[in-house]
Amino acid sequence: MCTHNNHRSFDQLLSQLSTRLINSESAETQDCIAEAIAAFGSYVDADRCYVFEFSDTMTSMSNTHEWVRDGLSAHIDDLQGITEEELPYFFDLMKNTFRFIVHDVRTLPEAARNEKLEFEREDICSVVCIGLVANQKLLGFVGCDMVHKRYHWTDDDVRHLSLVADMIANSLERQRTYQQLIDTQRQLKEANSKLQALATRDGLTGIPNRRALDEKLLEEVRRAKRQGTGLAILLIDIDHFKAFNDTYGHLKGDEALKQVATCLDAVMQRSTDFVARYGGEEFAVLISTDSAWQALRKANELLDAVEQLSIEHKNSPTEPYLTVSIGGYFELPQPDAEVASTISRLIDNADQGLYQAKADGRNCIRFR
Ligand code: GH3
Ligand code: MG
Ligand code: MG
Repeated sequence: MCTHNNHRSFDQLLSQLSTRLINSESAETQDCIAEAIAAFGSYVDADRCYVFEFSDTMTSMSNTHEWVRDGLSAHIDDLQGITEEELPYFFDLMKNTFRFIVHDVRTLPEAARNEKLEFEREDICSVVCIGLVANQKLLGFVGCDMVHKRYHWTDDDVRHLSLVADMIANSLERQRTYQQLIDTQRQLKEANSKLQALATRDGLTGIPNRRALDEKLLEEVRRAKRQGTGLAILLIDIDHFKAFNDTYGHLKGDEALKQVATCLDAVMQRSTDFVARYGGEEFAVLISTDSAWQALRKANELLDAVEQLSIEHKNSPTEPYLTVSIGGYFELPQPDAEVASTISRLIDNADQGLYQAKADGRNCIRFR
């Protein structure tokens, strides 16, 4: 059946395919596998040639590629997720010897009755399957059927099918490794963005932390310079918080901090507003606005909102509930202003405003 000539052209084709596979992307790999099994099928004048892959646990297998001679029925759709229980004889032989060579299915032993039934269903008389082994792992097998005719597989057929099997196994392994790399990369990216989120959030209150504020300040000052818009910063400090802790305990202090953070965040609803925990019992608010008056109005809203939380603070010399003092500053950054010095000016001025608010009796706003 295999003349010297078609022997040589099959070898040439295989060598061309393996060259293509070395440089191939996923889609081309699939094409090469399809071409390789078609070439082998034609070479031995078979009726069907196919690839099966095992599940990770090696307990089931699915048909992934199929070539059939014109006029014969395809079976790929029925042959999905076939379990070890369904074909125990085949699984056993394949796992232990990496091959399954049957010249005449009628000679199969009694232990192979399920296999025999399956071959009868598909009118298969002779079958050869060679394991796809890469890195000592059995990934699946490549096989070939003779339908309605018996055929004695020669050593040469088996050797050639083994070459096809090696080629396919190495391509599949490379694809799997590549997929694993992609998966690992995705997991790393996810872990990274989680870390990034953690690194810029305050652990107690859940709002952005000082580091996030520093980044946001850079961003907003640059934007204000570019777009010629104004920027306001508010520094908000809880009044007599040491006394609060001393009176109600540190845990209640933490609770109050969380409440104040949530309250500030709720008042500053615009996407251009930014609220952060500046440190200790101090918060910072950035407002992108063209009017100092609007920023001052926001500061008033914040002061009132905290007061309305009505958190009891019986030992506060200011009021019998929790209050804050606010220092604010507004600036229209000039296009030629230096970013770093603009940032320190914003903070220094808001800080002086806060100092003034404390000195003027607390629970008030001093805007510069
Ligand atoms: P003032 O009105 O002048 O701001 O007085 P104050 O007591 O608030 O200011 P001071 O700076 O003396 O004290 C701040 C207190 O805030 C002391 C510190 O224990 C408390 N504090 C800072 N961070 C936390 C925190 O995370 N949890 C709790 N419970 N307390 C904190
Ligand atoms: Mg304070
Ligand atoms: Mg403070």
